[in-house]
Amino acid sequence: MTETVNFDSLGLAPELLKALSESGYTSPTPIQAQAIPVALAGGDIMAGAQTGTGKTAAFALPLLQKLLPLASSSTSPAKHPVRALILTPTRELAIQVEESVKTYAKHTQLRSLVVYGGVDIKTQTPHLKTGIEVLVATPGRLLDHIEQKTLQLNQVQMLVLDEADRMLDMGFMPDLKRILALLPKQRQNMMFSATFSNEIKKLADDFLTKPQLIEVARSNATNDNVTQKVYQVAQSDKESLLVQLLKDADAKQVIVFTKTKLTASRLSRSLVKVGIAADAIHGDKTQQERIKALDAFKAGTVTALIATDVAARGLDINELPMVINYEIPSAPEDYVHRIGRTGRAGASGEAISFVSADEEKYLLEIEKLIKHQITKEVIVLAKPSRTPRGKASYQDSPQEESVTKRITPKKKNIDPWFEQPYVAAAQKNHASASARPASTRKAPVAALLGGLANKA
Ligand code: AMP
Repeated sequence: MTETVNFDSLGLAPELLKALSESGYTSPTPIQAQAIPVALAGGDIMAGAQTGTGKTAAFALPLLQKLLPLASSSTSPAKHPVRALILTPTRELAIQVEESVKTYAKHTQLRSLVVYGGVDIKTQTPHLKTGIEVLVATPGRLLDHIEQKTLQLNQVQMLVLDEADRMLDMGFMPDLKRILALLPKQRQNMMFSATFSNEIKKLADDFLTKPQLIEVARSNATNDNVTQKVYQVAQSDKESLLVQLLKDADAKQVIVFTKTKLTASRLSRSLVKVGIAADAIHGDKTQQERIKALDAFKAGTVTALIATDVAARGLDINELPMVINYEIPSAPEDYVHRIGRTGRAGASGEAISFVSADEEKYLLEIEKLIKHQITKEVIVLAKPSRTPRGKASYQDSPQEESVTKRITPKKKNIDPWFEQPYVAAAQKNHASASARPASTRKAPVAALLGGLANKA
């Protein structure tokens, strides 16, 4: 038997251990095992960890433990100053991180709150005024509160930058600098990032003090639990292919990524027309619409959530069996983030990318970043595609290195190809799953943990 680390041996307080066991966590994930002792000792951390590795608990648990001696049962707001600040790039991630903090803190007197943009700032102010120790915020809304003097940060002793790479991608650097200038100099800092670009290293140099570097998987690497596949397909055939996949894989919950909000909306409408429960989540949707779509996805009434990169960022989805890249991203780091939606916390998953000839250049960049080649299959739909003349199409491509699959739309399970995919990786046990016939397969149903539906 190999020696396993458990939460007790990490020196966590009984209140936190109780919450962990109630959450069903039996042992720490690698990032937790490495980060928690360093953070408890007060050191700065620069962690390379993708979503799905358990990184939220890796910073939230030590943060709560360090604040425990300062917890107070007093109702006076003065006894509950903001002592820990967690910054996230998106509201969805902010909401989910705060849900986790609340879960882990439920047997303590520590209070937490989340503030994010897109909702009336006045609804957040009364909550801030009651006093809270742990504040989770998106940078813009935090600055709004500071300007309105509804918030003071002069007692912050711990700072977490979550998904720092995405914060930079989204142009939050000036906001971050303004916020950091308002914090006490003496504080502990933890930075988490899925990818390590030069900009991230510069951010770490600027804001962290002698950080301990913790990496649980190679930076820019993709999760080993995720089976990745590329379907080379003409752009005009993508929609039919998606419909086939969603219908034939008996998919229960799939996130489909598009590059633009427009494609997300259009695709969601088209899927609904052919009887697939779909909804879109993107930046043009109101916060209420996004929460509604997430709740429906969580409840299983929406099968396909069509998302843009920004909107999907940070969604905490457990055991999501499949992610489909309807269009592959032009920024290779986004690929790593997207497929991090599946195969979380040790579960297996499948990531399928539809790649048209025009997108081949982006695929090469992705393969360079993740340092391996993704298995490719050429998909030729029986119905002739309407590829514009003179444009590259996979029907015309040389196919020496690829397997060609022919798909007949609308007739279910006629092609033997339909007997193979999707469930093997969605099953926890890789070995046995592919042997089962398609008709008996059931894809696991994902759950949004700490989910929005439970909110009052
Ligand atoms: P995160 O990377 O923080 O987004 O976490 C990914 C998922 O793993 C979340 O659903 C967590 O609730 C779950 N998780 C975190 N830590 C553990 C653990 N030690 N054991 C089991 N599940 C965990």
